[in-house]
Amino acid sequence: MNQRPIASPPPDQWLAPVLQEAGVLLGVQVEELRRGDDGTIWERIVARGYATEEKILDVLVSHFKVQRADLGAADPRAVTLLPESVARKHQVFPLAADDRTITLATANPHDLELEETLRFVTGRRVTLKVASPRAIAERIDETYQPERAINRLLDGLNEPNIETMDELELGSPRDPALDAPMARLVDAMIADGVREGASDIHAEPLVDGTSVRYRIDGVLKEVMRLPGSAGPSLVRRVKILAKMDVTDPLHPHDGRAGVRVDGKVIDLRIATVPVARRGEKVVIRILDQTNLRANIPDLSLPVQEEGIFRTFLGSREGMVLVTGPTGSGKTTTLYAVVNELRTGKVNIITVEDPVEYDIPGISQLQVSEAQGFTFATALRSVLRQDPDILLVGEIRDAETAAIAIQAGLSGHLVLSTLHTNDAPSAVVRLRDLGLDGFKIASVLKGVVAQRLVRKLCLACSVPITIEDLPAEARPPKGTTASPRKAVGCKACGGTGFRGRAAVMEIMPVDTNVAHLIEAGALPDQLVAASRPLGMRTLWESGLDRVWQGMTSLDEVVRVLGERSQEDEEESLAAAAAAVTAATASAPAAPAVPAAVRAAVAAENSGKPRILIADDDPQMRRLVRSILERDGYEVTEAADGLDALDQVEGKSFDLMVLDVDMPRLDGLGVLEELRARVATSGVPVIVLTARTDDTEARVLDLGAQDFLTKPVQAQSLQARVKAVLRRAKMP
Ligand SMILES: [Zn+2]
Repeated sequence: MNQRPIASPPPDQWLAPVLQEAGVLLGVQVEELRRGDDGTIWERIVARGYATEEKILDVLVSHFKVQRADLGAADPRAVTLLPESVARKHQVFPLAADDRTITLATANPHDLELEETLRFVTGRRVTLKVASPRAIAERIDETYQPERAINRLLDGLNEPNIETMDELELGSPRDPALDAPMARLVDAMIADGVREGASDIHAEPLVDGTSVRYRIDGVLKEVMRLPGSAGPSLVRRVKILAKMDVTDPLHPHDGRAGVRVDGKVIDLRIATVPVARRGEKVVIRILDQTNLRANIPDLSLPVQEEGIFRTFLGSREGMVLVTGPTGSGKTTTLYAVVNELRTGKVNIITVEDPVEYDIPGISQLQVSEAQGFTFATALRSVLRQDPDILLVGEIRDAETAAIAIQAGLSGHLVLSTLHTNDAPSAVVRLRDLGLDGFKIASVLKGVVAQRLVRKLCLACSVPITIEDLPAEARPPKGTTASPRKAVGCKACGGTGFRGRAAVMEIMPVDTNVAHLIEAGALPDQLVAASRPLGMRTLWESGLDRVWQGMTSLDEVVRVLGERSQEDEEESLAAAAAAVTAATASAPAAPAVPAAVRAAVAAENSGKPRILIADDDPQMRRLVRSILERDGYEVTEAADGLDALDQVEGKSFDLMVLDVDMPRLDGLGVLEELRARVATSGVPVIVLTARTDDTEARVLDLGAQDFLTKPVQAQSLQARVKAVLRRAKMP
């Protein structure tokens, strides 16, 4: 390490020649500045006393024909138009803005690309004024403080109405300025997530921000972006809530917390994992106690599958496995089985990591790998109590697999889960774990692979014809089918779906299949041999639900298609523990015919969706025609209340909102939108009349931008593009 790294040249190289030309710097000084390696050229000049900041600014003013910026007189509302990430990256600070132009302070008026970038991001003509880099940096720090962004968010939100079960004081390093607002924000996040029916809340550090998402019916939806510097405070707040170690950001942590939302007690399971160079990611699982009351009929299995499934459970010994990725409802299925078999006459013991729900009348053992109480040790001790039915949370390693199989072969019915994509792969996985083919064949009663698909909302889904389905997804001739598609309404929060149902692939093991397992048959051979016993693949069983009109083809393709990024993320808690076993032989994703996948992808091209709220039909028509030309999907609302109804019934990427409307005006709409976490992130452009000062008020109320009437096509197009771009920036 004896080579010094070569410093990259500072970005303001141009400054020295400009000052030399103006007679402020001598040639030798310019040479000396070039050789330095201490900060920017500007800083070097001031540090060496070659010129004062005042002098440099004077030269820039006359050289570039620009004005000096008065940072003290900056209009705070202009800040709305410039995301923090852009301000910091380019070291610019917004001074003022009107409908057409924005004025910003920079120390680098030389940079033409900068002007282009700023025009792009703000949708306005750009005027630059000059100020010293130090003064600009100070203003940026002061203005984009994370607590300001959070307070702005909190100002509009309804009171969360949440109680935490107990609070804990910790003497760890903290940012007191952020603690109080962050506590309120996290409360609001959790309360709102519970009300929206989210199963979990993800807070994930990005390169320069934190994204907060809810998972509802298995699908993640972003509800908030926080500035990057707020991320650590959020993580700390959540960790304190769950009594986790706030001092160690380098390892994964698990915890639990209890909260009361609107008087209802909710259990939270919280996991954090470090994300390389960006901080920690938090997942808050909201445990829904209604799961523990589920019975087999609640799983609403197809008749054929339910029949086969029940024959497995009639056995007094052997093993039944449920497989699928994390979040596929395996645990719910096993609990349903336990609830069904729980008669008081049978001794049921569960070994879980963690125990997710307490079931009355059943012994539940919590595995603790950290304390050496592994699945394997727990199983050994449990077997001494001679249970009739043994539920093993998950088989992850060879030792657990061996003991579980032994238990199944010696008079116990063993229920467990495996992390494989389809049913026959479970056999492959057990073999990979080193188990004997004969034993596997002898113990297995059957394997269930499952996924959860969202059920179409009964209030809004509409029928489609069989011809609307791609050829490969149509039912055989002569079969009756009533497929439907999703729409979205108030009842389903705009998603088009309500609740979920299982899609199952059930592989029964009879003597023939057992022989094949013993002989080391491949998954395809196992499927072929199980078909006469009534086995259908996940795809076939999913398609059946489409033909019934219970779910949509898009949904089945989404769920059965390749494992998405989100699924990968969701399994983080499991992944941390299961790296050893789970990756050994990851099978391919279940096959959705490529032609169907392509047809569905073509249908969902993903145009940004814009809602126009204006009581003047002519105005709506004008705005619609301008935006449709740019390829947006446009919906109209006739007044403020109509607009709020529509936002509840469908998710929009942007709202163009008129101020003067009957029933509820634009300002009222803004307030309502900002009052809930789920809608607080919808970007809004307000249409204002030229003569009043509503511009200022709408920005205060949380609009992203405004546009004065009469609307001109070009401005509208530029503004919409700019706001959609900014919505993706912290
Ligand atoms: Zn609906």
